[in-house]
Amino acid sequence: MAELEPNWYRCTACRWTAHTDDWDHVTDPHPLPGQEPDVWVVCADCRSPEQYEILCDDPDCIEPATCGSVHLQRFRWTCFKHCEHGEEGDPGVR
Ligand SMILES: [Zn+2]
Ligand SMILES: [Zn+2]
Repeated sequence: MAELEPNWYRCTACRWTAHTDDWDHVTDPHPLPGQEPDVWVVCADCRSPEQYEILCDDPDCIEPATCGSVHLQRFRWTCFKHCEHGEEGDPGVR
């Protein structure tokens, strides 16, 4: 999917890191017949398509996000350190 959530992403090919809006989007020039053309997220630095990893949602953290969780009714991606899972006494969040 090419719709990026507002977040920081890092190119796994060249380590370029940028916020959602700075990534290029390229429409598939040869979509399958009868299908909407796919839109690829492309690194603006090395042009690698779909080679991004999401970074931790914590503003000061640049670890790759490995843990998705719902926090305050919003889905967040965080690194394991900032993961909301299993925090004791966190009401209503699993
Ligand atoms: Zn890149
Ligand atoms: Zn983190």
